[in-house]
Amino acid sequence: MHPWRLLSIPLLVGLSVGLPVFWAYPDDLSFWRAVGIVLGWAGSGLLLASLLLMLREVRLASWLGGIERMTGWHHWTGLAGYLLVLLHPLALAAAAWTESPPLAWQLLSPVAQNWPVWVGWAALLFLMGGLSTTFASRLRYPLWRWLHGLLGIGVLVGFVHVLLLGIDAGAVFAILAALLMLVWRLIRVDAGVGAKPYVVRSVRRVAEAMVEITLAPLVRGMPAEAGQFVLVAFFRGPRFRGCGEYHPFTISAIDEDQQFRIGVKALGDCTRRMQALEPGVEARVQGPFGNFLLERPAKPQLWVAGGIGITPFLACLRNARVEHATRLLYLYRSEADAAFRDELETLAATHTGFSLEARATGDAIPDLAAILPGADELTGHECYLCGPPGLLDAVGHVLQSRGVPAAQIHCERFDFR
Ligand SMILES: Cc1cc2nc3c(=O)[nH]c(=O)nc-3n(C[C@H](O)[C@H](O)[C@H](O)COP(=O)(O)OP(=O)(O)OC[C@H]3O[C@@H](n4cnc5c(N)ncnc54)[C@H](O)[C@@H]3O)c2cc1C
Repeated sequence: MHPWRLLSIPLLVGLSVGLPVFWAYPDDLSFWRAVGIVLGWAGSGLLLASLLLMLREVRLASWLGGIERMTGWHHWTGLAGYLLVLLHPLALAAAAWTESPPLAWQLLSPVAQNWPVWVGWAALLFLMGGLSTTFASRLRYPLWRWLHGLLGIGVLVGFVHVLLLGIDAGAVFAILAALLMLVWRLIRVDAGVGAKPYVVRSVRRVAEAMVEITLAPLVRGMPAEAGQFVLVAFFRGPRFRGCGEYHPFTISAIDEDQQFRIGVKALGDCTRRMQALEPGVEARVQGPFGNFLLERPAKPQLWVAGGIGITPFLACLRNARVEHATRLLYLYRSEADAAFRDELETLAATHTGFSLEARATGDAIPDLAAILPGADELTGHECYLCGPPGLLDAVGHVLQSRGVPAAQIHCERFDFR
């Protein structure tokens, strides 16, 4: 990744913390009171940065190194911001303690307080509710997303607390900034106001629970490359009713008219419904995002695909972009799930330097130590992994234990909560 892109998010986070702390830095206060105020503003800055990092805009994502990276930082800044904001009343209580212990208790006890402080406690509760979902990866995605939204409410309520305390300028700026980002996310991304209209041209079954869908633009299409991913929502067709939610899918092929294909596996409610898609269904598309296989160094490569994680590799092969010795290990549960295998075998027979190993691994976690190449075969290789996060973590672990440096392991996780 370009060094500027690598630095972009740390710089943004540094500014989000530094500017409010510099603006609000208290001169003539006791040590603990000053610490309390600095913690409050540093936490607020991190929470604002966390909101910015949940926006899914093509240009922003490109500057900041991709949506997956933004999502990772979105979680860390949200969590760190919450912890600092949680420490903020404790530091203020420590300041009161130096005057008298009852005063410290009075400051923490909700019973002895007024509206500004109650609103502050309410903000902490909303933030706690929103953040707890970060650790609840088993919750159903729609419910998870709804609960995670409490975080945004928590940030807004927190700034209302600042406003009620009489810090007008800082609070008004922060409320406006938070509102702008929340409304932006809701309108542009979730409601799809920035999305382009497409129509389903054809649908082809490629495995038991997987279809490949061809989408044609109704206006000028997006300048995308095969292997990037887009957010797609399906709406109405002659007999089909789509769920209308935006979900990420990888472009498995694209032509010069910007008509493109996506492979969709039935993994949940919405993707199950998509198995019945038919030509003529209206769709809207946002993107493109990501550069997983677009910028690869001139080195031999190992590709590992888990199930539907085959799509970016297939895109690359269909584009005839294999320039270095490449070995693809394609893992799927059963023969009925082996989407695109015939096509991949044909590609392996016609592409020099490309070899394919396709394996049905059953429902249990496969014996990766036996399946993956040995340390001597991996020397100097760049490794690209795509599929469900659990499989990628396990494969990454084995590769590292065989001496592949972390910097040479690149992942596209088919999940970014
Ligand atoms: C970068 C990327 C590329 C992907 N490419 C493909 C592809 O080419 N083909 C394919 O079949 N699948 C792909 N996926 C996975 C696909 O997005 C999910 O299977 C789909 O969103 C599931 O939605 P659902 O409502 O059917 O299931 P749900 O039960 O709602 O979700 C199943 C799981 O999918 C994930 N998920 C759901 N909605 C979203 C969302 N809006 N954003 C991110 N993750 C979500 C969640 O982790 C959830 O636990 C990709 C995912 C990512 C992140």
